[in-house]
Amino acid sequence: MVPNYSWWEAPFYGIGLKLYDLLAGKYGFGASKLLTKEETLERLPALEPEELRGGVIYFDGQFDDARLLIHLAMTAADHGATLLNYCPAIDLLRDAEGYINGVAARDEETGETMTISARIVVNATGVFTDSIRRMADAAAEQLVVTSQGIHLVFDRSFLKGDTALMVPRTPDGRVLFVIPWHGHAVAGTTDTPLDAPSLEPRPLDEEIEFILETAGRYLSRPPTRADVLAVYAGLRPLVKGEGKTSALSRDHVIHVDTSGLLSITGGKWTTYRHMAEDCVDHAITLGRLRDEPCPTRNLRIHGYLEDSSALGELEVYGSDAAEIRALAKDPKLAMQLHPALPYIAAEVVWAARNEMARTVEDVLARRTRALFLNAAAASAMAEPVAKLLAAELGYDAAWVAAQVNDFQALAQQYRVM
Ligand SMILES: Cc1cc2nc3c(=O)[nH]c(=O)nc-3n(C[C@H](O)[C@H](O)[C@H](O)COP(=O)(O)OP(=O)(O)OC[C@H]3O[C@@H](n4cnc5c(N)ncnc54)[C@H](O)[C@@H]3O)c2cc1C
Repeated sequence: MVPNYSWWEAPFYGIGLKLYDLLAGKYGFGASKLLTKEETLERLPALEPEELRGGVIYFDGQFDDARLLIHLAMTAADHGATLLNYCPAIDLLRDAEGYINGVAARDEETGETMTISARIVVNATGVFTDSIRRMADAAAEQLVVTSQGIHLVFDRSFLKGDTALMVPRTPDGRVLFVIPWHGHAVAGTTDTPLDAPSLEPRPLDEEIEFILETAGRYLSRPPTRADVLAVYAGLRPLVKGEGKTSALSRDHVIHVDTSGLLSITGGKWTTYRHMAEDCVDHAITLGRLRDEPCPTRNLRIHGYLEDSSALGELEVYGSDAAEIRALAKDPKLAMQLHPALPYIAAEVVWAARNEMARTVEDVLARRTRALFLNAAAASAMAEPVAKLLAAELGYDAAWVAAQVNDFQALAQQYRVM
């Protein structure tokens, strides 16, 4: 719902969202519609009613980014790919002519270094793209700029109902949304240029204040710092250009260095299949790989089910939910790990056995979304999760203690004090 508080917003957003419907064509989820004030409040009762004139309702898709990523990795494995995690590339290998023909990688668990040979190396490392390119050419020009975006998570009662709030242009020219997600309300986002990327980006206080203050203008119950269950930051790899990061193109670019290193960067989740197809087509040409038609258009992702709505809390697992349910026949694994979140012990065991989860952080941040939904609850879950993982992976009590310690330090950064 785009709420209208000024006279011009209904025609402006009404026409804009009709164009959006046209662009979506047959892939759209429904037609946008202008609503009266009463209809708007009926759909979005959490809205500030004072001076509200009406709203424009439109339809969009949402997803769980980490879950889609895990299922994409599993799809690759299902088709024969070999996956390695906790193995950063630390150098590039070259043949006699200086052409890149592999990487050196470090196994972070054992400290061992390995070499992996390849016909073509694809650099798809997001905001770290340029650091890999500089392994090939120390003088490589900067291709990527880093833009940080943060989100705040609140209890679902801040939103009420199933309708999301979208403000395409706040009075200071930014975007604000509050959307229902995994039983919570997520508010975002910001677009803050950073000088250098980091593996664990930190939300800035001014970003937190912007979201709280702006959401407070549109919600009848303004959220405060004490209401924030979790705050998290992400880094967008944007293709360098002129002007503010918010105005930079979200298109992807493919760059081939003289050494044959293929880099893909920019883009969005929305266009990931197109990006991948474009990238693999380049790799086929450069690496003299077998040239076959791209199957992505009709390729089903691991976990695909015609209808997963009956799977309840395990819905995101799709067809894997049946195996998690089978694990949960053991009463110890049916146990819910925290009363505030739906996750059960069987999901931890599943993640260790099938989803390459190696740490408490893997389970609580990227296999489940506990850390992103409720940092205090995730902290409390660290010990039972560490014990379940230790039993699966063959670690001792010292490992459990170190994992709990590390996770609790991390979870502190996802809390707003
Ligand atoms: C706040 C925010 C909101 C967004 N909203 C949307 C949206 O609404 N819709 C949308 O479509 N997109 C959205 N995006 C964009 C989308 O999330 C990004 O485009 C996408 O995550 C970039 O994917 P990537 O694979 O290029 O990079 P990343 O997701 O950053 O992945 C790069 C990977 O490379 C790994 N790596 C780095 N160095 C090495 C190394 N030396 N060796 C091995 N691996 C390495 C990293 O660990 C990481 O896993 C948003 C992004 C942010 C930050």
